[in-house]
Amino acid sequence: MIEIETTWEDTGYDCDHCGGLVLRRTDVETGQPKRICYQCKVCGCQWHVNGDVLRIGSGANCRQAQRERMGEKTADERLVRRFVWVLALVALLLIVRFGGVMALRLLIPLAFAVLILIALTRFAREKGWW
Ligand SMILES: [Zn+2]
Ligand SMILES: [Zn+2]
Repeated sequence: MIEIETTWEDTGYDCDHCGGLVLRRTDVETGQPKRICYQCKVCGCQWHVNGDVLRIGSGANCRQAQRERMGEKTADERLVRRFVWVLALVALLLIVRFGGVMALRLLIPLAFAVLILIALTRFAREKGWW
C-alpha cells in the first residue's frame, strides 16, 4: 500500500511573480525518500530547494519570469563564448609576438588558469552563489 502524505509549511517568503505565499511542500511516499520543494500558493509555481524551477505556473508573470531566466542563461553563454574568443586572440598574438616555444611556455599556465576559472564558475553556479 503506497501512501503519499503531503505537508505544507509557511516559508515566510513572498512569490516574486504574484506576491503570494510561498510554501514548503514535503511529500512523503511509502518506501521513497522525502521530496521537498517550494510552491507558491497562488500561481502554483514550484521550485526545487536549490532554486531550479520544477513547474511553471499559469500566471503571465510566471511565464515572463521563465523567459527572463532563459534569456539570462543565453546571455551567460554569449559571455563565455566571447571570453573564449578573446583568449584565442590573445594566444594567437602571443604566438606571433614571441614565437612557438616561448608562447607555449606562457600559454600553458594561462590555459590552466582558465580551466580552473571555468571549473570554479561552474561549481559556484551549481551551488547557486549567483
Ligand atoms: Zn506566485
Ligand atoms: Zn509563478
